[in-house]
Amino acid sequence: MKSAVLVPGDGVGPEITDATVKVIEAMGTEIEWQVVEAGMKTMEEYGRPLSPKFFPLAWECGVVLKGPITTPIGKGYRSVNMIIRERLNLYANVRYARSIPGVSGMHDNVDVIIVRENTEGLYVGFEREAAQGVVESIKLTTESASRRIGSYAFELAARMGRGKVTALHKANILKMGDGLFLRTVENVSKTYSGIDFHQMLVDNACHQLVVDPSQFDVIVAQNLYGDIVSDLIAGLVGGLAVMPGANMGDNIAVFEAAHGSAPDIAGKGIANPSGMMLSAALMLDHMRMPDDAARMREAVYAALADKDALTPDMGGKGDTEKFTQAVIDAL
Ligand code: NAD
Repeated sequence: MKSAVLVPGDGVGPEITDATVKVIEAMGTEIEWQVVEAGMKTMEEYGRPLSPKFFPLAWECGVVLKGPITTPIGKGYRSVNMIIRERLNLYANVRYARSIPGVSGMHDNVDVIIVRENTEGLYVGFEREAAQGVVESIKLTTESASRRIGSYAFELAARMGRGKVTALHKANILKMGDGLFLRTVENVSKTYSGIDFHQMLVDNACHQLVVDPSQFDVIVAQNLYGDIVSDLIAGLVGGLAVMPGANMGDNIAVFEAAHGSAPDIAGKGIANPSGMMLSAALMLDHMRMPDDAARMREAVYAALADKDALTPDMGGKGDTEKFTQAVIDAL
C-alpha cells in the first residue's frame, strides 16, 4: 500500500482534509496515512507549531497532503508553511486555475498554471530592524533559482502540451534583481523550441488577467508576485476555495489548496473542501494513480455543478458534509 503524510493543519484544515480522506476511501483507493499535527493548537499544546515527526515522515513517504496552517500576523512564530517549504526545498509552487462548468467566475475561459518560485524573493521574510523605525526586508534573486524555476515552468509546459510561458516581473524598476530573473528565464526558453516565451510587467499582467485571461497559459513568477497573482486568478474562476496546488521539490511534493485556514468560518462545518479535494487529485496523479485522480476530479466538478450541494462561499445553502456526500454520490 502507498503511504502519504497527512497534515490536517488548523482553522478549516481538519474539516476539509477529513472530507477529502472520506472521498479517497469511498473510491477504494488505499493510502496509508501518517497523520502529523501542526498549527495553532499544536503550538498551544506542545510549544511548537509543527510536530517533530513531520520531516522524517515527509522524507520517507515523499508525498504530503496538507491542510492550511495559520500564521500569526505581525508577531509570533514564523510561518510553518515557510519552514516546510525551506526545509524540504520545495522550490516550485504550482497552482492550477481553471474555469469549472457550472461555477460562476468572472470568465469561463480560464486555464492558467501559475509556477511560482518558492525559495527566495521578498516573500521568504528576511527582515531586520536596521535602526529604530527603519526595517530592511531583503529581496534576494539568484541566477540558479531563476534558472531552476524557469526550467520547471518550461518542463511542465512541455509535459502538459502547453504552448506559451509568460514571465512576470518588474524589471523596469528593479533592473538588477528582476532583470536577472527575466534574462535567466528567457535564456531557459531558448532550449524549448515549441513553446513561446512572453514577458509582462506584473502590474499590467493583473490588469490583463482581469480583462482577458485567455492570453495566458503558463505563468512563471518570483515568490511574492506569484502569491498575489495566483489569488487574483482564483477570483476569476470562482474563488480561492476551488483552486488546487502543490509545492514541488526534487523527490518530494506537498499538495495543498491555495486558500488559508479561513479562521472566520472554522468549526462551522461550512468550509468548501473542493480545492483540497482537487489538490488530492493532483497528489493521486503524482502517485501514479491517474484513473483515481481523474475520477476524483470529475466527481468534484459534478458536485460543484450541483447547486443544492454548494457551500455558502459559492452562493449555496449546503455545507461541507453535504458537498462531500455529493462528491461521493458522483463517483
Ligand atoms: P483565507 O484563504 O484563509 O481566507 C480568505 C477568505 O476566503 C475568507 O473569507 C475565508 O472564509 C474564505 N475561504 C478560504 N478558504 C475557504 C474554504 N475552503 N471554504 C470557504 N471559504 C473559504 O486567507 P486569510 O484570511 O488571508 O488567511 C487566514 C490564515 O491562513 C492566515 O493565518 C494565513 O497566514 C493563513 N494561510 C495559510 C496558507 C497555507 O497554509 N498554505 C495559505 C494562505 C494563508
